Amino acid sequence: MSYISPTLPEEKKREISFHTSRIELSLSALKKNIKFLQKIIGPRTIFSSVIKGNAYGHNIRTFVPMAEKCGIRHFSVFSAYEGLIAKQSLTQDSHIMVMGDLCASALEWAIENEISFYVFTVGWLEKTVKAAKKVGRPALVHLEVETGMYRTGLNEKELDRAIRIIKSNPEYLIVEGVCTHYAGAESISNYVRVQDQIHRFKETALDLARKGLKIRLWHTACSSAALRYPDTRMDLVRLGIAHYGFWPNKETQMHYFMHNGAPPNKKQIDPLKRVLTWKSRIMNIKDVGKGEFVGYGNSYMTARKQKIASVPIGYFHGFARQLSNRGYVLIQGRRALVVGIVNMNMMMVDVTDFPEVNIGDEVVIIGSQKKQQITVGSFSDMTQFLNYEILVRLPEEIPRVVVP
Ligand SMILES: *Cc1c(COP(=O)(O)O)cnc(C)c1O
Repeated sequence: MSYISPTLPEEKKREISFHTSRIELSLSALKKNIKFLQKIIGPRTIFSSVIKGNAYGHNIRTFVPMAEKCGIRHFSVFSAYEGLIAKQSLTQDSHIMVMGDLCASALEWAIENEISFYVFTVGWLEKTVKAAKKVGRPALVHLEVETGMYRTGLNEKELDRAIRIIKSNPEYLIVEGVCTHYAGAESISNYVRVQDQIHRFKETALDLARKGLKIRLWHTACSSAALRYPDTRMDLVRLGIAHYGFWPNKETQMHYFMHNGAPPNKKQIDPLKRVLTWKSRIMNIKDVGKGEFVGYGNSYMTARKQKIASVPIGYFHGFARQLSNRGYVLIQGRRALVVGIVNMNMMMVDVTDFPEVNIGDEVVIIGSQKKQQITVGSFSDMTQFLNYEILVRLPEEIPRVVVP
């Protein structure tokens, strides 16, 4: 059966066992992903582990110590709240960077705790100076520059004003980095736009250097940019989806295989290993006669005598209702089709041709079992969700368990 670390306190083990499913996080898979990606980005480029969105559904509190075990010392979050959770989860002297919405109430906290953060408005930079004076130490800021995504980022004029503020407050502002984000590096259809952004970023870099700004870290790349555009890697990369073992999209995976000469159809040579496996178990098994409707309504009718198993996972747990009559789970290393409508807490699957199934048998909802695999990707093919979206929809309540 499933692995639960023997070192966990009894009470915690009991609590985990009360849940209808669990999400196992593989330390060895993470280690391999980080090693693979660090090799691509080179030994001198800082690997920032992006853990926004509850570490892409993996859970910040569980994931941060795992990543630190794999040598990560830099984490990127979106909000102050995520920064706080990350900070509480550190087991090493790692650095935290807020890439998005650091709220006003968290500004002093960030400065006190040496948490760096993006600045994308002049007003915010002024507020930062005030807060740094109050705290009595410099703020570590990353200037986000506009290069053509038009989301957040300082344009040329704003950048000039920012430089003036920085130069007149050297004891309160340390520009740790200058950064930008690409508007879709995972898709070749954005090629021209991304190239244009790279070009604009380099121009800005030259300009800032000319104006006498000293910057330690230039950074622009997310997973797909780091994988597809080598000159985006610079001093630091912000890697999310790839280090969890997922390609940003199929296209980026094929791009990698095309440029590295490996046959793309052999799963075993995929250098990215899924860190996460979502598991449940069979709750009930029923023999149903021919011509009966299964579950709510009449969306599924048995075509013969069938064996139907129920699994205590439903849309409450993040299993999309759109997967009714279409999704699959793994039982005994074989795919079992979801039959009928996905309920709030349960779904039914067809196990008619499974030689010997029993109540309590393991059910894999995402991940591998024996030689079969259900990827988040196959979920996204059947729903309109991105793999990113499916991961972050995994509810926080489902226990995360670290496995070797
Ligand atoms: C989410 C995010 C990343 C990481 O993106 P992935 O595609 O998951 O690697 C990098 N930079 C910023 C600014 C982000 O918001």
